[in-house]
This record gives sequence, structure tokens and C-alpha cells, in this order.
Amino acid sequence: MKENKPVINPCFWMVGLLNRLVEGKLGGVLAWYTKKHTDQCEKCGPALKALLALRDGLKKACGEEAVGLSDDRWARIQAACDHAEGA
Ligand SMILES: [Zn+2]
Repeated sequence: MKENKPVINPCFWMVGLLNRLVEGKLGGVLAWYTKKHTDQCEKCGPALKALLALRDGLKKACGEEAVGLSDDRWARIQAACDHAEGA
């Protein structure tokens, strides 16, 4: 059984920070650090782009309320998207 996550595969300690940055909930030093890291990291850079694309897709599909989800909801949405892409 192989995992179907070709693009969104950031450094494990960055997952929460990336999600919050995409949701617009990250500020100050953490936002600065996260952006600096994604500029330099070959894993987190593409992951951030993929998450932003996912967010924009959700905005179009569901309206603005779709952004600002809890981490748990994001995880379920990402799992659902992975499942849909793999189907
Ligand atoms: Zn990284």
C-alpha cells in the first residue's frame, strides 16, 4: 500500500505552520520563519504552492467560509482530495 501524496509533502515540523499560513492565521515571527523556510526548502516550497492552490480551489467551490478550518477539517479535506486524485 503506497501513499498517494506526490506534491504536499512538507517537512513534518512545518505541517501545522504551513496550514496556518495558508489560512491566514499565522503572524509575526512564525509567519516570517515559515515564509523564509519555504523559500529555501525544496519540500515545503512546492507544498505551500499546492496548499494555496487547494485553498483557492476550495474558495471557488465552497465560498469564503471554506477557509479558516480547523486542522482536523483540513486533514480530512486533504485526505479526500488525495483519495479523489487517486481514484
Ligand atoms: Zn521544509
